[in-house]
Amino acid sequence: MQSKDYTPWYISPKRSCQLSDFDTAPPSKERPSDSELDDHLVDMGEKLNKLQSTLHAAKSKGLLVVFQGMDTAGKDGVIRSVFSHVSPLGVRAEAFGVPTELDSRHDFLWRIHAKAPALGEMVIFNRSHYEDVLVTRVRGLIDEKTCQKRLDNILHFESLLQDAGITVLKCYLHISKSEQKKRLQARLDDPRKHWKLQASDFEDRALWPKFTQAYEAAMGATSTPESPWYVVPADNKSYRDSFVAGLIVQTLENMKLKTPKPTFDLSKVKLA
Ligand code: ATP
Repeated sequence: MQSKDYTPWYISPKRSCQLSDFDTAPPSKERPSDSELDDHLVDMGEKLNKLQSTLHAAKSKGLLVVFQGMDTAGKDGVIRSVFSHVSPLGVRAEAFGVPTELDSRHDFLWRIHAKAPALGEMVIFNRSHYEDVLVTRVRGLIDEKTCQKRLDNILHFESLLQDAGITVLKCYLHISKSEQKKRLQARLDDPRKHWKLQASDFEDRALWPKFTQAYEAAMGATSTPESPWYVVPADNKSYRDSFVAGLIVQTLENMKLKTPKPTFDLSKVKLA
């Protein structure tokens, strides 16, 4: 995978977004071979590890990577593959399920803000505050006015993080409905994967058009130059992983991280 240009997959700030404009499959032209994708992933993984070290050492910036997508889109898989080269000390992954009773008695960003990265940290969100304008909207748990307010709140929240030195990178793992069918069927066919299935997966599949609309509205309203949304072609797992790894590396490189200078004169150190 040669290209470092992710613009075709970038959702233009504050524009209406149509997911049907984006492919779920890898580009057919100049499509890398599986071995090229594997090599690229290893290469990006090693770079990611070095960049994470610098991020930790400098403690001047932080990175939050948000993963969203329909059920079976591959949030768990991409996190496992992309971050397998990074020291476990260097990355923190947080997953957000149905809010607890205590969460629900706070504003919707309370539980999210508590898990946001500090300077020097790289944090991954497996689902996120976006669930509060997606599943809640589709299932009619909030009204339209609340949803619009929440989208504004999200913009302010991410801008607050940005002002505090935290870059927010948002990835939508884009799978086709037919690919989801294959993946759900594979889980149904394999008893070892039954634990992964929930009744809501099948209910949500029936609501595919509504989820698509909710995603389009949420991503269109919250893609900003500072905190962009990228639509990741996710039908092919190797391509998806390679794409995301490259995108995170590019984001960290653009942060222009610098290793701090020693706090004392190293030339004066005499080792006995
Ligand atoms: P996943 O489906 O993400 O692979 P999982 O099956 O382990 O993971 P859980 O962590 O138990 O899932 O919870 C995920 C579920 O929680 C999803 O159905 C999601 O829509 C729901 N959820 C997450 N955030 C919210 C929210 N703010 N309000 C309502 N439901 C939410």
